Amino acid sequence: MPDGTSTSCPVCEAHETRLFDRLDVGLAAPSQVRCCDACGCAFFRPFPQPDHGGGSPVLDKFALEYATGIGCMLEALLPVRGLPAERILEIGGGYGFLLDAAGLWCGARELCMIEPAPVAGVLEHPVIAGYFPADLPPGQFDLILASEVLEHVPAPLDFLAAIFARLTAGGLAILTTPNGGVLREEDPPHRAGMLSPGQHMVLFSPQALEKTVRSLGGVCRIDARGAGRTGRNGLVCVLAREARVLERVGPLPSASSLRTRGAIAAYYRAKLVAPPAETPAQRWLRAGLLARLAELEVSIDDRRAGATIAELERGLEQDYGLDEAAQWALPDALEACVGQDLHELIPRYPCFLGRVSYFRAMWRLNHAGDPVGAARLFSLSLRLLMLEQRGFSHWFAGNRSLVAQAARHTLIATRRSIESRVLANWLGLAQLGRELARPAGQQAWRWLRGKLP
Ligand SMILES: [Zn+2]
Repeated sequence: MPDGTSTSCPVCEAHETRLFDRLDVGLAAPSQVRCCDACGCAFFRPFPQPDHGGGSPVLDKFALEYATGIGCMLEALLPVRGLPAERILEIGGGYGFLLDAAGLWCGARELCMIEPAPVAGVLEHPVIAGYFPADLPPGQFDLILASEVLEHVPAPLDFLAAIFARLTAGGLAILTTPNGGVLREEDPPHRAGMLSPGQHMVLFSPQALEKTVRSLGGVCRIDARGAGRTGRNGLVCVLAREARVLERVGPLPSASSLRTRGAIAAYYRAKLVAPPAETPAQRWLRAGLLARLAELEVSIDDRRAGATIAELERGLEQDYGLDEAAQWALPDALEACVGQDLHELIPRYPCFLGRVSYFRAMWRLNHAGDPVGAARLFSLSLRLLMLEQRGFSHWFAGNRSLVAQAARHTLIATRRSIESRVLANWLGLAQLGRELARPAGQQAWRWLRGKLP
């Protein structure tokens, strides 16, 4: 077991490594990020003490309701969808979504997860509390999954060797991990998530990961286009003991393809036909799945989005007392919390509301023929997304790309609502005057004036 203080590379053992960054962000001791130019890996010195979090209802609520990670985890699994696997193991699977989807997609007879953190049980799969491989009873598996785990282990070579030891001869493993090779690029996106000070230990480059797998007698296929929580800065590695096994594995599909999004939407729907939610965690999960499904259905223009959104809106009313009008008070409540601890707000706040209001608005604009309602919802989503981003950007990192889109669509829907009113009924000028009192209305008016004779 490495002691985590030597400056030699923990992957290729090169003695010469260089200081890449020094992180001093409220950790017990400042931490160094070092790069190895011989193999392209990055690693932390000293290694942080393992801290898995977990066991907090507030974090569970946030993760189940809002966290946008399930979809990108499932993308990494699509290449083995339809390949039979009798026994599946997931290492460090959190709530177990990847394991659950793999069980459905590969027709497994036995599912097993090993996880050191206390996690809310929402999917009812057996969980062994502890570390891989030390705490896992003997046995081999046809499929082993480890999503965003490799970067957390202090002895990654031993970890990979243990995965090979637990694979059947025809078995496969899928690993996702941040791509340590892109860290040296200037300001790569998701840099903060890749570094995760206090949590990550070793970040592999694709070359080093491939070389390590070969040195252990295995074969692998690495896709550096990314999937997993670090987006396109992630690596997806499919590994096997024999080359012929890898030949059965499909390519990693594009995240934006219809096939990918359709498969993930189908998984969400399969989870939503489960019996009614009973525990708070099951209710958060159900709301979170509905929100993710609504986003996907709207983005692939699936007509079922209308029913999904209607159920989501009923839930907002039942669980939070938020009818259409009451949602307008939320930005003020959120504004008052900016700069404070989000733990106070989360129990009262539907964590997906900013994101999902954007997709609800998109539906009204494109399918429900309601540009006025769409403009209102876009501007609600814009205010919520901006407040979430300004006050709690660490929590709502997934919002970043939506803010600009929400701003653009608020303007488009406002223009369209004014245009449809004007053309349908010139007597609606009083209402138009009220719209024009707002800044977005004035922009729309300038646009409209250009259109008039
Ligand atoms: Zn190295």
